[in-house]
Formats: sequence, structure tokens, C-alpha cells
Amino acid sequence: MTDTATDRTVYRTCPLCEATCGLEISIRDGKVARIRGDRDDVFSSGFICPKGSSLKQLHDDPDRLRKPVVRRGIDADGAPVFEEVEWDEAWEVVAEKLTSVRAAHGTESVGVYLGNPAAHLLSASTHLRQMVKALGSHTRFSASTVDQMPRHVASGHLYGGGLIIPIPDIERTDLLVMIGANPFESNGSICTAPGFPDRIDAMRERGARVVVIDPRRTPTAEHADQHLAIKPGTDAVLLAAMMNHLFNVGSVNPAHLASIVDGLDELPAALAGMTPETAADVTGVDADAIRALAEEIADADSAAIYGRIGTCTVEFGTLTTWLIDVLSIVTGNLDRPGGSMFTSPASERVRPPSEGRPYKIGRFTSRVNNRPEVQGEFPVADLPDEILTPGEGQLRMMVTFAGNPVLSCPDGVRMDQAFSDLEAMISFDIYINETTRHADVILPPPGSLEKSHYDISFYSFGVRNIANYSPAVFDHDGPSEDDILAKFTLIAMGMGTDVDPAVVHDQLVRGLLEGEVRSDHSPVAGRDVDELVAMVEGPTGSDRVLDAMLRTGPYGDGFGSEPDGLSLAKLLRNPHGIDLGPLVPRLPGVLKSPANRINLWAGPFRDELDRLRARVHEWAEEPRLRLVGRRHVRSNNSWMHNLEVLVKGKERCTLQVHPDDARRFGLVEGGQAEIKSRVGKVVAPVEVTDLVMKGVVSLPHGWGHSMPGAKLEVAGRYAGINTNILTDPAMIDPMSGNAVLNAIPVEVAPA
Ligand code: SF4
Repeated sequence: MTDTATDRTVYRTCPLCEATCGLEISIRDGKVARIRGDRDDVFSSGFICPKGSSLKQLHDDPDRLRKPVVRRGIDADGAPVFEEVEWDEAWEVVAEKLTSVRAAHGTESVGVYLGNPAAHLLSASTHLRQMVKALGSHTRFSASTVDQMPRHVASGHLYGGGLIIPIPDIERTDLLVMIGANPFESNGSICTAPGFPDRIDAMRERGARVVVIDPRRTPTAEHADQHLAIKPGTDAVLLAAMMNHLFNVGSVNPAHLASIVDGLDELPAALAGMTPETAADVTGVDADAIRALAEEIADADSAAIYGRIGTCTVEFGTLTTWLIDVLSIVTGNLDRPGGSMFTSPASERVRPPSEGRPYKIGRFTSRVNNRPEVQGEFPVADLPDEILTPGEGQLRMMVTFAGNPVLSCPDGVRMDQAFSDLEAMISFDIYINETTRHADVILPPPGSLEKSHYDISFYSFGVRNIANYSPAVFDHDGPSEDDILAKFTLIAMGMGTDVDPAVVHDQLVRGLLEGEVRSDHSPVAGRDVDELVAMVEGPTGSDRVLDAMLRTGPYGDGFGSEPDGLSLAKLLRNPHGIDLGPLVPRLPGVLKSPANRINLWAGPFRDELDRLRARVHEWAEEPRLRLVGRRHVRSNNSWMHNLEVLVKGKERCTLQVHPDDARRFGLVEGGQAEIKSRVGKVVAPVEVTDLVMKGVVSLPHGWGHSMPGAKLEVAGRYAGINTNILTDPAMIDPMSGNAVLNAIPVEVAPA
């Protein structure tokens, strides 16, 4: 901070997406006067997208809840009526609802849904696990089974941990192949790289090549050297054919990986029949182009293959993700500069290589559809079934945290119906949205500028190793976010509403340090815990946990043993962040798999390849249109549509359709189309464009803000269409439980 308390400039990491851009925020008369990119930020160097500067509008949004609200019934139109209350009253309602539902139906009748913003919140990173544990129910869901669980499951089987994820080393690569990823709009996902567009430009300037594989000619594809338009959902076939070709021409060379990878010899047989010609029929990508790209990857000095949303939100999401990594392995591009590497985050624990153990899923199964748990949760596509199907363990209460599954999850109509069937619901949210309108009580956290920030999650997926801490910009008139989480935790543990939330903060700090002093490899091994606890600094409980993490992490000050090392205090002295260097090779030490080896067949991938082979023949015959989603740089799933500055202008919620398909189905630019899937139908304005390939139509996701009772005045005026009325909960990636949001079979007709 500089200047006086009312006129000052502060530097802050944007918490809105995974890019972690540095912001320079000018405060005049106690209000945000201007937000622009922080040119001195060590990671983003001044880059900012339109959402970043909208933090001012978000802070000022009159619809943002500042105090808890409690539902007091419904009005004459059937819309819920909420009343603002003080926190004490809200906590009494929370305690009463939890107690009564548990007493009537048992602990398992209370389910949890964690939305995507939870991953961006410091308090959620430090306190949410404890809160969910206190609820005691196994019926947990999150946005992870909407868009990324295949990445975790593939990593789990290959490397022994769902969070051990290779990141494309875009700063040094000679060839970047992006599949189903559009970082020009998303700004990167599971690949933290602020200013992604500038980085791609820089990459091309130094002679690297960029290839994009996507059914749409996205802005990313338009900036690439090559765009291969692929039929949605068929990436696995393309990747299998590329690898098959490399084996056939003898271009497989795992190089430094050969000594730690098992199962390479079995790959050729497992890929049998997956030829470039077969793949061309199914994917729409020319067989020669498939061969050429495979050879280019094999021959490049370094190549990074990066798959994202389009590769995860499909029926073979986990297999596709596995194939991406295996292609990286057989070409020697995993864990080498310019390839795909593992980040070394400052919050990581310093531990010796363990013996490892097999990655486990299915430690328990879901009640209704008998689905295995994956990473401790069930597919969110099954959430309505768990609420609407009677029987022991039926969900009668939901706790939702920063999420709007009615708009963001499959079969939105049934999801909405399910939430209205609950006996009780508690939501942590800043808005009364399409989902939280069903809640009995909504607990609003402080606004984005009223709390400290450190991206524990996304610095773990950075293209560089970075640490950057942002203190709160404004004071908050209410409890801090970690106090809210801690208080809820204590109530869920049955300790009443009067307990001091600091109990939880202290326990988290102490628990972390007790683990550290017991570990021989920790920089504080053998030291006195009380002494360390007394040295921990930070204005909130989460900040204190973070301080303890950083100081005992790989770059930490070791509570004095490395005086120049990292601590919260050091980050406060460096408001533009600290660059901890480029990615470094980490194999085999980063592995948690048995014997610290990469076994390609640790998961049921052979069976999945057989299942894919069977589908190839169906797909080749498949004449139907496929629906895909799309991203826009001014949108962030569903939750930022209440900011006029982001949603005004040309209608964005349109059905994109190729000119040939428009003629075929009688659709005209600006007209209306009815889009029908197995589970629902919607009507959307038509945009005729060759940005989508033939046979593909596209609707953006996160829209549909027209439900009674939601208090989103601006979003209501730009309501758009909920594409998840069309997505089918019966279609999931069986290995991960991830929803299938892309490649949905649909029919279209003039409305
Ligand atoms: S790209 Fe993401 S982190 Fe950067 S300003 Fe935009 S929303 Fe914020």
C-alpha cells in the first residue's frame, strides 16, 4: 500500500481465474478509482483481461450480499422471499437446520457441493477440508466432475496422486500442441500462465510452433500456426492413431524416462487397429496430417502437449488425458525443459520420496447409481438422483459453497427440481442465484477486495514457480471468511453457536507444525511446536496457516534456519510477487506411485481402449449434430453475469452453426433455432459462422438467468440460454465420473 488510507495504490493478485494476474488498484476517497494490470508483477507483467478490472463493479454490485439472508417463505408468484439478518441469527438457523435434518434422517442425508471459485479462495484452501469433514457425510460433489476429474484420475494412475499434473513448459517449448483448450478466452486452466496470448506470441517470435486441435476455430486457433478441426469427443482416437504411427515408423524414444516407465512394450498391441486412416474417418482430421503431427512431436527438440476442457468433458475424458501423457512419455517429452513438467510450489511439503502406493478409487460407492467415489466425491451428474430417490441415505439437505449447479451441471431442469425437493439447504455465496434461491440461509463471505489472497491451488500448476500474497484492500464489516468456515465447522461438530472460531485456526496451524517437526526432511524437524506456533504471523487464521506452510515449504525460511527464505512477512515486502524460477525436472522424486515408477497400465486403460475401439465404428456412421460449449473472455462460468460492464454489447449466447448446416436445417442468421437433446430442448438465436466445423453447433455455458427468485438484476436482463438443459446426466466418463458437456448429440430446427 502507498499514500494515505483513503488515497492509495495497492497491488493484488486477481482471484477471478487461474491466471493469477497482478493488479494495480488505485483507491480514491476510500473507493476503487481504477484497476489496471500491475506492470511490475513478476508473473503477469501488466497483463489484465476485462474481468480483472471488473473487480470494482463486483465490489460495488448492489446485488452482492453483505449480510446473511434467511428465507421467510414464498411470494404470490412462487418466488422465495429472503430477509437480511445479523450473523448471530443466521448461525442459529444453520444450527437448527443441521440438527433437525441429522436427527430425522442421519448424517448421510446432508450432502455437499463445492463450486469452482472455492479453488481460488485462500480460506477455502486452508479450512474447507476441515469443514466438509465435520459434516461427516460421504455424499460430496464438486465442480471437479464438471470439467477436470479426468485429469486427476489419469494423474492418479500414472503418478500416484491426482494433483501430480504435468504442465506445458510454454516458456521453453519448441512445439505446443493444444487440444480442446482455448487460453485466449479462458486465460489458461490447469496451466497457470497470466498473459497466455502474449506468451503464445512470444513463443512464435522465437520460432516455436503452435498447433491447436479443436472443433471450433477459436481465437487461440486463429493465432496458431496450424488448426486441425476435429469432430467433438474424438481426440482419444486421434492420439491413439498418432502413437500407433510412431510405433510403426520406429519413432518412439522415451529417452530419460525409459528407466522409470513400465508397460511401454505392451502399447503397440493395445493400439492395434488405431491407424491414421481409421482415425481420419472418425475425427475428420486428414490421415497425412495425423502422421505429420505425430512425427513433428517426435522430432521436435521439445514438445508440450496440453489438453483441457474439450478433452476432459467427453465420454473418454480420462483415456484422452492418459493418451496425452503417454504420447508425451513415448516421445521423451515428460519432465524435460520445453516438454510437460511438474511445478514446485512454495506451499508444498518437503518430504523424502515415499515408497508410494496404488491410486485408489471406489473406496465407497454412491447409494443410487452405485458409482465409485473418485477423489472422495461422486459425479455431480448424479446429484439429482441422490436427492430425488427415496430410501435410506436420501439427501434431505445440501450445503453448497460458491456454486451454481442449476446452471453449471447436467440436466439443469432436474437439478433445479431436486434442490426444490430438499428439506433444508445452507449456501455460502455472494449472490441469491438460480441455485441458492432454494437455500434457507445464505452466508456471504467478504467481497474479493475484503480478504487476503494467495493462490495455493493455482501456483501448484504454474508455468513458473511463483509466490505472491495480497492483503485485504478494504476492511470488512462482518466476520472474515475463515471465521465463517471455522464457525460452521464447529456447529457441524455439534459444539453450538457460541464457540470461538479461533479454535479451528489454532488447530490447523498446530496440526501442520506438529506434522513438520515429526518429519526428518522438514526444515523444522525436531523443533518445539509451541515455539514455532508463537512465531507464526498473519492477520487471519488462513494467513497464519499460509505463513506456517510457506516457512516450512521448499523455499521457506525454516522459522529462522534460512533467514532469506520465504514467509508471509517476506511476501508482504514484495507486493509484486516473488519469482522462484523456471520449472525443473522432478522425476522420479515427485511420484507417489508404487516403487516410484510410472506404470502405464496401473488403471483400466486397456479396457477403455477396447471400449473406444468399439465406439470408433459407431462414430464413423454417426450422422447427428454434436453440441459443444464455448468460452468468452468476458465470462467466467455463471457467476460474473451480473456485471453490466462484462455482459453488455452484442448478444453472446447464440447457437453457432456452420453455413452448410444452416442451409441443411433451414436456419438463418438472427433467426431462432430449437435445439433438442435426449433430455431437453431450448430455443436460441442463430449465428451462422464457419468458426464451427460442419456437423457441430456451439452454445456457451453458464447462462439461463431467468428463474424467479434469483436476485441478479443485470444477469436477468441478459439471461441467455442454459445449455445444461441439453446435457445428459446419463453420459459420463466412466473412469472419472466427469460429466459429458461436449459432443452432445442434438437435433436443430427453426423455432
Ligand atoms: S485473466 Fe484471470 S486472473 Fe487475469 S485479470 Fe483476467 S480474470 Fe483476472
